[in-house]
Parts: sequence; structure tokens; C-alpha cells
Amino acid sequence: MHYKTIIALLSIIIFTVNISAKIQLIKKENNDSNTTLLVIAGIHGDEPGGYFAASLLATHYKINSKNLWIIPNLNKNSILVNKRGIHGDMNRKFSVIKKNDKDKKIVDEVKKIILSKNVSLVLNLHDGHGFYRKNNQGSIFNPTAWGQTCVIDQCNLKEEQEFGNLNNIAVTVKDNVNTKLIKKHHSFNVKNTKTKYDDEAMQLSLTYFAVTNNKPAFAVETSKNLSTLSQKVFYQLLAIEEFMKIMHITFIRDFDLNAENIDRIITNYGFLTINDNIRLNLSNIKKSLSFIPLELVKDRFIFSNPLGDIKKVKGRYRVYVGGKKLTELRPQYFRISESCQNKFDVIVDGEKVSVNKASSFFVNTDFKVLKSKNTRVNIIGYQNKNHSDESNVNIELKDLNKKFSVDKNNKVYRVEFYNKNEFCFMSMVKFK
Ligand SMILES: [Zn+2]
Repeated sequence: MHYKTIIALLSIIIFTVNISAKIQLIKKENNDSNTTLLVIAGIHGDEPGGYFAASLLATHYKINSKNLWIIPNLNKNSILVNKRGIHGDMNRKFSVIKKNDKDKKIVDEVKKIILSKNVSLVLNLHDGHGFYRKNNQGSIFNPTAWGQTCVIDQCNLKEEQEFGNLNNIAVTVKDNVNTKLIKKHHSFNVKNTKTKYDDEAMQLSLTYFAVTNNKPAFAVETSKNLSTLSQKVFYQLLAIEEFMKIMHITFIRDFDLNAENIDRIITNYGFLTINDNIRLNLSNIKKSLSFIPLELVKDRFIFSNPLGDIKKVKGRYRVYVGGKKLTELRPQYFRISESCQNKFDVIVDGEKVSVNKASSFFVNTDFKVLKSKNTRVNIIGYQNKNHSDESNVNIELKDLNKKFSVDKNNKVYRVEFYNKNEFCFMSMVKFK
């Protein structure tokens, strides 16, 4: 993996959790054109192929010409519980919606985004049942299946509309995807639902709302019957890249597109930064962490992964990426000190190093945080109770109680800094 490039891409965007219904819209723009591809994922909360593909698009692609807008988790409350729609099927609410419908805010807002002047083409990502075939070949391969299709509601939009020849575009996309199949039976097809005449349910859908407003729109459906999530993401990205090529959106992807690389990327959950003073690595994190110093009133949670989310339940903060609950934080509320240092010195394996606040340092055998003025150090899990301030104490892995480690391998521990009774920041010591 080209680690440096990823960091560079990531540094452009951060993903702040917004507790309100507001949609997360990530814009990757160049000033050379209004041509904009809008990718919408997660309208159905149990279709991770779509929303993980959108997440990778946000974090691992750089757009060099024209524009890409991404909504990675439209129905995020349903994604958290891995349900199609906790308030019913959101993709049947785009024609009429009741005033008191709990999805109304989101549906109204995404309609506005779809109708934005700049949006030239809309993709709605799904994982569908089976493998679509024109002829019936059993319960998985048949004409009512949705998987491995590029779905259109009709063949054309108004003649002069750019990208309005939906059928031609869909055929080109599926032909090109079909040159890169992992297995032969994964082949893509175009499914025309002929929505206006034949499909009443689809008249209520997001794509039909777009096409009736003369916005080119397609659904990309990968199959729920593919054997792994990374295969679903692979086909979603293949299809999206074909749409970008048709729209002359040029891009750089910082990994080779194959299922193995995708698997590695989607199982790296990234980091959660809290209030600029705590940074948790979410990969390999323990199921539950206690006494996490929070502020209560205005805590800010920032994920490096666009599918990151927080749900507060019974006073605890559940941390998710996509539909996966990674950990639960039990808070201890503090005032945040305004007179904290930004760095501290540590003797690591006999050598003095300077460490930034809320970052990590790596240790082979032992470390000692050097005393600095007005600061009290608390090393969570250190078992010797003789010290109220644990600076200037030499510590090895055996001095630390595994119960208090941050990671599942019991190698990472919290080093917390306080100014009297106010919290400064938490750094991590990682034993090799
Ligand atoms: Zn769906």
C-alpha cells in the first residue's frame, strides 16, 4: 500500500459525525468544469457492497478533472443496525412522502442535491438478490433477480440531455465490467425496468425521481450472493470507474483494484479523534473502554472513515464503522484544560524522544515520561499505587494490567495528561 499517498488524500477530508439528520456529502472538485457525478450509497442499510465502495471512493481516489460528489451513507441509521430501512423502504418515498415520515428530512435533502444544477449523472448503489439473467435458470439466476446489473428506468431522456442515452451508457458499462470478471458467472447485464409503463413500485424510487427531472440516473446492483464483501465492493468500483470514464472524469486510485487489496482496506477501520485530544485506532480495538475523558456538552467526534458513526445509548458511546459496532466508550466527564502543553518528552528504551499530544510512541522494553510543570501523568493500567503522578517512573509491559489495554493484543496503553483536575490529552504507548 502506498501509505504516504493515502495519508495525503485523507488529509484533505475529515468526516465529522453530525448527530442531526443532515446528509454527509463529500465533494471532490476541480474548477475545470461543472460536470459532476453524484454517487449515492446506503439507501438500503443492509447493502454494504454499495456503501463500502462509496467509502473507498471518498478515501482512496483523487479526482483530477471534473467533479465527483459522494453520499456514502444516505440511510445511516439503518446502516447502523444492518436493516434495509428502519422506517420502511426509503427507496419508495421519492414520489410521495407523508409529512410525518421519519425519512422525510433525508429524502427532501437528497432530492435537492440530485436537482443541483451541477449534477450531471446520478448513481444509486445497491446489493441485490441473485444474478440477473434474461432467461430463467433457477432461483438464483433468473429475470426477477437484481444482482450484477446496471439498472435503467427507460432507454433515453430528452434528446439534447447530456448522458441522456441511458441504454447506450449502461451497455458500455456492463461490456467493460465483463472484461474483468473474477468468475464467469459474475457477468453484468443491463436491466431496464421500463418504470413508466411496467413498474409501479419503481415509480417511487430515487432514480425515477431523477430521470423524471431529466437527470440521467442508474442503479448499480452487485449481487448479495457474491461470496465476500470485497467482491461486491470490487464490482461496484469497476462500474463506477466505467461511468467516470464515460464522463471524462480522470482519477488516481492509490491501490491496485482487486478483491485482496479491497479486503485489506475495508478491514482497516481507521481512527476516531475526539476533541483533538484523543486519537483511537479502531482496528483491533477492545470491545469496551472505560473512563474515557470526555467533555459532555460539546464533544467532537471525527472519523478518518466516512462510514464512522457514534450512537449514545444509556450514557455510553457506541462506535461504528458501517454496520459494525467496534467498541463502546464509557465516559468520565472532565473539564478540558486550556493551559496544556502540545508535546512531552519520554525516555524510550534509553533514548529521549519528543512526542506530540494525542499521538502514539513505540517501545521495545521500557519507557519513562519525563516530568513537566503543572502536569500530572496517569498511565492507565499501571499497577503500582504509590504514585499519584506517574511521570518519572520507568515502566515495562509487565507493569501494566492487561485489563486496561486499548487493543485486543494487550500491547497498547493509555498515557493521560492532566492539569490539576482538568483533562489535557491522551497519548498511546505501543509495545512492539
Ligand atoms: Zn437496495
